[in-house]
Amino acid sequence: SIVVTGATGHLGRHVVEQLLEKVPAEQIIAVVRDEEKAAGLAARGVRLAVADYNAPETFDGLFAAGDRILLISGNEFAKGRVRQHRVVIDAARAAGVALLAYTSAPGTLTAALADDHRATEEALLASGLPYALLRNGWYHENYTGNLAPVLEHGAVVAAAGDGRVSSASRADYAAAAVAVLTGEGHENTTYELGGDEAWSFAEYAAELSRQTGREIVYNPVSVEAFAGILAGAGLPEPLAGILAGVDASVEKGELVVSSGDLARLIGRPTTPLAEAVSAALKG
Ligand code: NDP
Repeated sequence: SIVVTGATGHLGRHVVEQLLEKVPAEQIIAVVRDEEKAAGLAARGVRLAVADYNAPETFDGLFAAGDRILLISGNEFAKGRVRQHRVVIDAARAAGVALLAYTSAPGTLTAALADDHRATEEALLASGLPYALLRNGWYHENYTGNLAPVLEHGAVVAAAGDGRVSSASRADYAAAAVAVLTGEGHENTTYELGGDEAWSFAEYAAELSRQTGREIVYNPVSVEAFAGILAGAGLPEPLAGILAGVDASVEKGELVVSSGDLARLIGRPTTPLAEAVSAALKG
């Protein structure tokens, strides 16, 4: 079987959706915490397994020898994601799976956010399992998913200076995961995944202006000021600091991915940022 964890998350839903176009539904197992949230997947014939990264016993017997697994990294920063991911790696090793693909972060990223990913990669390599590291760059949707305050203030606020980001859509990264899960020869490979074009925040603001017909400017602020703005918007302070730290990495060019791996894996150009903007404005 092809097993996808985090299947009810934003990325996981795209992965399962695209898997359904390639393999029979009964070959797909969606690992979910909440069966109700996965009712739509079950209705389409996808098998469900209920498990939680925080409860190792829920993964007992979940995987079978020969399975291909996609471990989608978790989002519970405070609960220790490395420990959580190890639960899945250990269960996969016990079962003798054929491949464990993990959604990681770009190899160039030094921001604190990348620490869990580096440690998970190390655990996966140490396990001896056939692995694929899907080092996902940033999602367009990290930006276009939160346009309300941008439109309200007529400003994109970030602490990234003139730094550039090679983002791509979640659907693009999902397509890469599907290519690896359904294709051959991806064992023990590291993919640096990112969009074909890197954009600056000034260019992003210009694109928003073009598509809305209103003036939207880029307002660059310091990392400290940005952390304060994020905390003011309701993010827990540690998370605000971590996310602001990502902008410092952007300024240093750490989220520019120029490998071409994503377009190669999916066999087409990546989705342009302008398309994600247009979808979000229609949304
Ligand atoms: P989501 O937050 O939409 O999805 C996270 C998924 O992880 C959800 O399905 C969630 O389950 C599942 N999950 C979280 N904790 C547990 C747990 N304890 N046990 C089992 N499952 C759990 O994120 P995305 O889909 O957008 O992105 C996937 C991952 O990529 C994120 O979790 C994060 O690690 C990383 N990420 C990458 C970004 C990028 O730009 N490259 C940006 C943001 C995140 P449930 O559906 O039940 O909530």
